Amino acid sequence: MRGVGVVVLQILGAAVALAVISGLIGFLIVHFAGSGDAASRRAGASARAWESNSEQPSVPLSCRERSKSALAPLREGGSLPGIVEADDDGLYVVKFRGAGQGPKALVAELIAHAGRDQQRERWLRPLATGQAIGAFALSEPEAGTDAANQMTTAVRAGDGYRLRGRKVWVANAEEAKVVIVFASTRAGLRGQGVTAFLVPMDTPGIMRTARADSLGVRGLGCMDLELDVLVADDQVLGQVDQGFRLAMWALQGGRVAIAAQALGIGQAALDEAIAYAKQREQFGQPIANYQAIQWMLADMATELAAARMLMLKAASAKETQDKSTVEASMAKLAASEAAHKAADKAMQILASAGYRRGSVVERLFRDVRATEIYQGTSEAQRMIIAANVLANG
Ligand SMILES: Cc1cc2nc3c(=O)[nH]c(=O)nc-3n(C[C@H](O)[C@H](O)[C@H](O)COP(=O)(O)OP(=O)(O)OC[C@H]3O[C@@H](n4cnc5c(N)ncnc54)[C@H](O)[C@@H]3O)c2cc1C
Repeated sequence: MRGVGVVVLQILGAAVALAVISGLIGFLIVHFAGSGDAASRRAGASARAWESNSEQPSVPLSCRERSKSALAPLREGGSLPGIVEADDDGLYVVKFRGAGQGPKALVAELIAHAGRDQQRERWLRPLATGQAIGAFALSEPEAGTDAANQMTTAVRAGDGYRLRGRKVWVANAEEAKVVIVFASTRAGLRGQGVTAFLVPMDTPGIMRTARADSLGVRGLGCMDLELDVLVADDQVLGQVDQGFRLAMWALQGGRVAIAAQALGIGQAALDEAIAYAKQREQFGQPIANYQAIQWMLADMATELAAARMLMLKAASAKETQDKSTVEASMAKLAASEAAHKAADKAMQILASAGYRRGSVVERLFRDVRATEIYQGTSEAQRMIIAANVLANG
């Protein structure tokens, strides 16, 4: 059985397990190929429309459950959502929404990890069941790779805080019911003075100002936000001034999910290339007979398989270790670059058939690029890995 990838959730007990996917990790859009289960087929059939309309899918998509969660278990409710990859057939995840991955499982996971009882009660179940979508607002015009450079401020006002600033590229913001906003509570202290706040999106003073017209992952619903809102003390997520640490903690899981996403795209590219190479004839025979094509397929398969091992290792580390930053960075770096190369080679193998607007490979080629950028660029992952290597070498 061929195919790929994704993810899964297993949440709050069996009752909601499958329906949860779009909410918690959720998202998915999907590059579809082959014979997936019914939900996969539905998603696959809609993927092109979602992407051409920049539309966020609202259907819950099932994914085969496998492996244990890559996300930390919810304290209550038993077995929790997990992420992770897989060898399913036919489903190629391209985006996540809800909690985290794509920004997505990040929200639910952070609330599960650091939320007060009242925050957990209010948000976890809706996020887990897909009734609510969450967004994660860390990036700002001047805070990209240098995410600690937060210009959004949180200043004491009455019994709470006044948050003022601008966030960019907030995935899911279009549909989100709640957003985690990171803001500076102690000017000049960078990551030591950032606090996370849970802010319902219908709070007065949140404005969705611009929708990102992106090259790929067009169903992600990325918006810029202008904020001038009052929040109460009980909307602080975790401890005051500890928000940056929380964000970095969440990205350990998020990056594993991006690795799984990239592998889904890469595998889809490989599948498309294999199918085309077998049926396209030039000089009287299938192009799959030519060694030039075979070597490209061999490299694609090998690099994706190697990255998949790193992704599984990082997922396991996330589950079993307190800290898995380096494993997550290695998985994201290797998977996103292997998938990028696979999409590029698939384009070469399909040649004009892949270059045509609207072809599956054309979409994969555009979507895959985001995996080398969001939740930390490849350069950021290399910085993390290199710092670890130098410290421990
Ligand atoms: C589709 C999409 C969805 C996103 N979703 C979200 C979201 O939901 N929430 C959110 O908060 N953010 C989100 N982002 C923002 C994303 O996290 C940032 O784009 C990313 O962190 C890079 O920041 P930047 O784009 O400002 O690039 P910059 O930081 O300006 O980097 C520009 C270039 O310089 C390199 N660079 C920077 N610093 C160094 C250095 N010290 N050493 C070497 N190279 C360096 C970078 O690697 C890059 O190549 C999203 C982005 C995209 C494209």
